[in-house]
Amino acid sequence: MAPTYELRMLSAASPQRWLKPTPKGLYCEPGDFFIDPLEPVDRAVITHGHGDHARADNRHVLATRETLAIMKRRLGEAAGGTLQAMAYGQSLALGGVTLTLIPAGHVLGSAQVMLEHQGCRVVVSGDYKRRADPTCAAFELARCDLFVTEATFGLPVFRHPPDEQEIAKLLHSLRVFPERAHVIGVYALGKCQRVLALLRRAGYDAPVYLHGALQSLCALYEEHGVALGPLRGATGASREELAGAIVLAPPSALGDVWSRRMPDPVIAVASGWMRVKQRAKQRGVELPLVISDHADWDELDRTIGEVEAGEIWVTHGAEEALVRQAHLKGLKARALSLAGFEDEAE
Ligand SMILES: [Zn+2]
Ligand SMILES: [Zn+2]
Repeated sequence: MAPTYELRMLSAASPQRWLKPTPKGLYCEPGDFFIDPLEPVDRAVITHGHGDHARADNRHVLATRETLAIMKRRLGEAAGGTLQAMAYGQSLALGGVTLTLIPAGHVLGSAQVMLEHQGCRVVVSGDYKRRADPTCAAFELARCDLFVTEATFGLPVFRHPPDEQEIAKLLHSLRVFPERAHVIGVYALGKCQRVLALLRRAGYDAPVYLHGALQSLCALYEEHGVALGPLRGATGASREELAGAIVLAPPSALGDVWSRRMPDPVIAVASGWMRVKQRAKQRGVELPLVISDHADWDELDRTIGEVEAGEIWVTHGAEEALVRQAHLKGLKARALSLAGFEDEAE
């Protein structure tokens, strides 16, 4: 019997021998697959359905059932040549690597990718958050030797308040301005459905009006058992109906003709970026709602400690600050500087 303990120490020290940042994305050599590749590849493992992670035209795609459904809805045929669904917690052996998807708590179907090879365990987080979200499975902590983390909000200035507090701000504004439409900019995948679920949880049971671009993913969430309450199309609705109503729209629609039809609108945006007052102001946002689907600074800091990994790789966002934070904890850490991840719209 080989001395497995030593083998583990040797290989745990060097996951970079088999998991490599490349211009196409993170590549697992023994398994011969990329995680969230930036260009079409033969074998892709996709963490979740956001456009900067789930790109078109990979030959073989492995992801959760929900992520595959989202990709098919958004990309049609281009979702991939063959699509292979994996449930959370299920494992698959690929060329000496055992791959397991575990919940990331980011959006419906979002997964962390756990890779085990020669006694070394790597977890690639994808995008994640730690707080509860009624629209998706909660983040699961997996201890590992190497943790590859996002850092979208990896600066101490980003501390997301409790969701209920932000929803209460919105409901308060509706009471103060009962004649005004409250038009909220939300990203179509995840944020839209989360805001709806949080409103319902807060007891708001009136119909919510949706911009056309948001309808299909809301229907998909409902098909997957996420109840969103009564929804109506905003396009056909009269000004009388929209007065005092909540209207959800993609952030891009807020500035254009579409939102000018609304009766005296209160413009809101639900995003972690709304923490930055200047950014809210520039975009003409009267009611900034700090609701994010990403870990804030405290969650990132806590997570890189709790996974107990000796080494941290930081993939996108404010990489340097989180790398420094990991160093302060006595961990090995590096910024991967992978291009192509745009969480501006989160
Ligand atoms: Zn994402
Ligand atoms: Zn991302």
